[in-house]
Amino acid sequence: MRKQIAAANWKMNLSWQKGEALLDAILAKEYQLTANRTAVFAVPFPYLHLAQQKLQGKQNVFVAAQNCSNKKSGAYTGEVSAEMLQSLSIPYCIIGHSERREYFNETNQQLAEKTDLLLEYNIIPIFCCGEPLQIREANTQNAYVAKQLEESLYHLTTEQVQKVVIAYEPIWAIGTGKTASKEQAEEMHAFIRRQLAQKYGQEVADSISILYGGSVKANNAKEIFAEPDVDGGLVGGASLIADEFSVVIDSLK
Ligand code: 13P
Repeated sequence: MRKQIAAANWKMNLSWQKGEALLDAILAKEYQLTANRTAVFAVPFPYLHLAQQKLQGKQNVFVAAQNCSNKKSGAYTGEVSAEMLQSLSIPYCIIGHSERREYFNETNQQLAEKTDLLLEYNIIPIFCCGEPLQIREANTQNAYVAKQLEESLYHLTTEQVQKVVIAYEPIWAIGTGKTASKEQAEEMHAFIRRQLAQKYGQEVADSISILYGGSVKANNAKEIFAEPDVDGGLVGGASLIADEFSVVIDSLK
């Protein structure tokens, strides 16, 4: 079975103290995790080490960064490299979140570079894709997402692409309280998998986890995650509340 993942994206929220308290509160909750049913916490850079320490010895719970540089190293003030993340033993890194694409002008080409660097340093990219509202309203979301995948991932070898996790996050559903219906989510996830199958073959496509993101909460996670091509979620707002996120984790297939 494909890996099922409940990933928390804290974005630019919480003080160190509140982050620590939140991790403690979530880790104290009851939920079942296995090698194929995992939780990931994407915390701000200054808290990566804290989160690593908190999760030490916990099975099937991992830390992620929320971004990394598309440059390898050198005079890039304020940037954080994949190599630095590797030196902290960070196993996952989100890239291409729509907020980074929109507010920091990240391009598909830069995301291809970030993907390469992360894979070079053995970090699993959680590659975000997804369309804005006007594209959805024009019903051209499939072509839009296909282009994101093509321009950032399709240069990868079969072996490399199998290491990538994809997160489909329709921008109109992020932080709006308006989630995609489970049918809309499944339709896009199945489309993404068909695209991957065309490029890399069905077996490879079937091995890649595709997470859904956009207003996932305790009260809707189970029905969305139950869809056959939805392999868990990337969760913003609800990941900041222990009672909510622990239920999201327990909603994994
Ligand atoms: P919300 O869950 O707050 O809608 O955010 C989704 C998201 O952007 C996760 O990366």
